Amino acid sequence: LVSKLTSSGLLKTQGLIGGKWVDANDGNTIQVLNPATGEVIANVPCMGRRETDDAISSANDAFRLSMPSEGNGTGMSPLQEFGFHDNWHGVNSLPLRGANIYENVERYSSLLTDFLMLLPTCIARFDLLITHKEKLGQLITLEQGKPLKEAMGEVSYGASFIEFFAEEAKRVYGDIIPATLGDRRLFVLKQPVGVVGAITPWNFPLAMITRKVGPALACGCTVVVKPSELTPLTALAAAELALQAGIPPVLGVYIIGTPSTEEPQFTNRGVLNVVMGKAPDIGDALLASREVRKITFTGSTAVGKKLMAGAAGTVKRLSLELGGNAPCIVFDDADLDVAVKGSTYHIDTLSLLSDYNGFWTAIAADALIQDFENVFFLNDVALCFAFIFGRYCHGGGIYDKFADAFSKAVQSMQVGDGFSEGVVQGPLINEAAVQKVESFVQDAITQGAKVLLGGKRHSLGMTFYEPTVISNVTETMLLSREEVFGPVAPLLRFETEEEAIWLANNTNAGLAAYIFTNNVQRSWRVTEALEYGLVGVNEGIISTEVAPFGGVKQSGLGREGSKYGMDEYLEVSITFSAYL
Ligand code: ADP
Repeated sequence: LVSKLTSSGLLKTQGLIGGKWVDANDGNTIQVLNPATGEVIANVPCMGRRETDDAISSANDAFRLSMPSEGNGTGMSPLQEFGFHDNWHGVNSLPLRGANIYENVERYSSLLTDFLMLLPTCIARFDLLITHKEKLGQLITLEQGKPLKEAMGEVSYGASFIEFFAEEAKRVYGDIIPATLGDRRLFVLKQPVGVVGAITPWNFPLAMITRKVGPALACGCTVVVKPSELTPLTALAAAELALQAGIPPVLGVYIIGTPSTEEPQFTNRGVLNVVMGKAPDIGDALLASREVRKITFTGSTAVGKKLMAGAAGTVKRLSLELGGNAPCIVFDDADLDVAVKGSTYHIDTLSLLSDYNGFWTAIAADALIQDFENVFFLNDVALCFAFIFGRYCHGGGIYDKFADAFSKAVQSMQVGDGFSEGVVQGPLINEAAVQKVESFVQDAITQGAKVLLGGKRHSLGMTFYEPTVISNVTETMLLSREEVFGPVAPLLRFETEEEAIWLANNTNAGLAAYIFTNNVQRSWRVTEALEYGLVGVNEGIISTEVAPFGGVKQSGLGREGSKYGMDEYLEVSITFSAYL
């Protein structure tokens, strides 16, 4: 498979700086491992500060190089003669000087067309992701471990952000505000924030990148991407496809000279750069740079806090998508089948179950899919999390019913190498992840929880862990308080709606929550009382490119996806002009 991927040209093992594939300055490399087998897939450059600085200045060149200058005698650069801002983000600008367009249109018609089509075509040509869906999926499974089907689902999901934002680029509208004086004009402009540093995790090696790079490019920003060192190959393959789509060579275009005197020339600049290696050094370089105006990060809350503190020095914009511990509340008026099915989409979820007897039950199945977002791609299987609300329960015992149905669903999950047919749960990403799961499970057992299913390493060895369901979980246990990121579903019990809300909100996290109920009033009441950025009602799959994704409290800042995802990469400024 590795040699097939290599000959397809998608297995890249160098960083991308200024449009060129490069090694680390000192030649050092890091190994990329297949978590299912422990085999070395490839070696990639171990980069640090110097390479990151190079990538930043190359991104900055691409962003700034063609800004207006006095050099050509007109105070404008060539494309401005056509009426465009001629830097990378100029596509968002409307023609301002129509006459010049007509004067020069013959000579530059193809150039103009190319430029006009820049964003829609080059970004939308990320349909290359779909064309190479199978190979990209294989690459994801190889380095990340998730089942191939799920990995291919991620490719579609990842590509959806590129498509969406390529279209959204056409809609970066400004405003004209009536000025307070009749002879003044007041314009609101939306402009790209500048160079963006995008730091991404291993759980979605492709989608977490496209969700950031798509809107950044669409807004006219240039980007330095730092993928997880555990899964850099998918990022590099996506960058190769971006090159094929024409992004750095075309979108980094700079035209030297003026339309009247010189032929246009192109330089190949770093609209999109990828560096990887020593994460803290790369992070420090991005944070220290005055040119990097924005950091967008998905990962742990601990690293997110470091980045937030580090960004203070240069007052950078920040988008942070941090940890969650999603509660899944199943009320006793829920359709149990729907609740079990909806919950089984999620592993990284805390399920709260209300019982007839008035006890709390919460199922926090955390890592079956290694991340709750993985559920979006889990077609066949999953875990269920439910709260069962007892007050209106006449039959009683929905907790036990749910625990039973849920355990059965979990038991049928096949664990193994992501390339094997029928497998729905792959390995955890590394040994540290397994040890974390073990310590959380041990903590729960010590405090009186009961393992209904699993609860130990899988006989397959490596980093495989048995899908696990644990009952009698309480809010004091680590499983309820922190993100386990492993295939563990803790079940908690609750008695009243108020308790369910309190339990669900009694956390620093606030990313996603799910409720299952057939009571319309309750669904609105509870949804609005939950301190979460995303709430699923009788629905386990809630992430899509058209909806804003993001957390409240310590789960993060900002939103990704949807029109709101564009705002993260735009500055709002005004022009207040005397109109005489
Ligand atoms: P996860 O547990 O999801 O891997 P991390 O926060 O550890 O979460 O990692 C997410 C991303 O952040 C990865 O690309 C990782 O290399 C990067 N990272 C880790 N530490 C730092 C740091 N000090 N500065 C910048 N990036 C970092």
